Amino acid sequence: MIKMEAFKILHRDEKREDAEAYESQEGSQKMVDMEDLIIIGSGPAGLSAAIYAARNDLKPLVLGGSTPGGQLLLTTTIDNYPGFPEGIYGSELIEKMRKQAERFGARFENDDVSEIDIASRPFKIKTASKEYAAKAIIIATGATTRWLGLESERRFIGRGVSSCATCDAAFFRDKDVIVVGGGDTAMEDSVYLTKFARSVTIVHRRGEFRATKIMQDRALSNPKIRVIYNTVVDEILGDEKVAGVKLKNVKTNEIAELPVQGVFVAIGTVPNSGFVKEKLELDEQGYIVTSNEVNTAIDGIFVAGDVADKRYQQAITAAASGAKAAIDAGRFLQNEKHG
Ligand code: NDP
Repeated sequence: MIKMEAFKILHRDEKREDAEAYESQEGSQKMVDMEDLIIIGSGPAGLSAAIYAARNDLKPLVLGGSTPGGQLLLTTTIDNYPGFPEGIYGSELIEKMRKQAERFGARFENDDVSEIDIASRPFKIKTASKEYAAKAIIIATGATTRWLGLESERRFIGRGVSSCATCDAAFFRDKDVIVVGGGDTAMEDSVYLTKFARSVTIVHRRGEFRATKIMQDRALSNPKIRVIYNTVVDEILGDEKVAGVKLKNVKTNEIAELPVQGVFVAIGTVPNSGFVKEKLELDEQGYIVTSNEVNTAIDGIFVAGDVADKRYQQAITAAASGAKAAIDAGRFLQNEKHG
């Protein structure tokens, strides 16, 4: 727990040596750097927010997490991000965004946030190694793919297993693929995949879909799509790349093998919002509830990207909301300064 009374806030222009001296003299007291704006997360939302905020001279500090980059690092080539006619690797796109933010003065720490106190100002953020105080925060922690949890699945991510049809469908031209799931994403992904794949088989664990009727109808009326109900993926087969799946009927326990080259997992995402549970409003699936796109009920706390967006979840939409959050944060800080 952060002990509020033990906080000493050091403004950026104060000397680092002062902070260190303070810490050694006061023993148990914590050293805290005061920031104007802290951005939590370093996927496209966080990095786009960093570019916009840095260009607004806010000198943002980005707490990028111990595995910075977000979900783009799970994909190979990204063909749908504007400006890259030949496509770009997810890792390269992230690297370019980061360099662009650094060029304007954004600073980065690859620390995971363990605790956040937004009940009073300045806001406090704690990582494993440090504590920070900030006048404004942009939360851009993204969402994590909900995977099936199979060992074979992990082995083939990027080699036939994908969680993003929009990103990867084009790699499966004239191939046979399965989509796992029974929600709107599974329906939408299946229909999208038919533009490229020879066949799409939806594998769903129950006998009926949870997807909305209109989405179901769209998928079920597509001649390239068929459905296997009451069935789960038991194992993904292959050597270097996916070559098939072992399916298990959950009613009969019957096992069958299906030769496919692609496995699209569409069983939902898990927003990375646990650290603000009970501090900000979350919807029933854990996504942060926003107003006016990137605002929250707490002045000075902004949200960008997939942690608040279960609908689009694209690099470009995340980047756009990062820009919006940075613009609103800039206005907020400006208003604070001038009362
Ligand atoms: P959902 O949570 O709605 O659906 C997840 C699906 O995956 C369910 O059918 C669920 O099965 C299945 N599932 C969950 N865990 C497992 C598992 N371990 N093994 C096998 N199957 C599993 O997620 P979606 O991503 O589909 O949708 C998220 C939200 O985004 C929804 O609100 C949706 O409406 C919205 N959305 C809207 C779109 C649009 O309007 N165009 C497009 C895409 C999404 P079960 O049904 O048995 O629980």
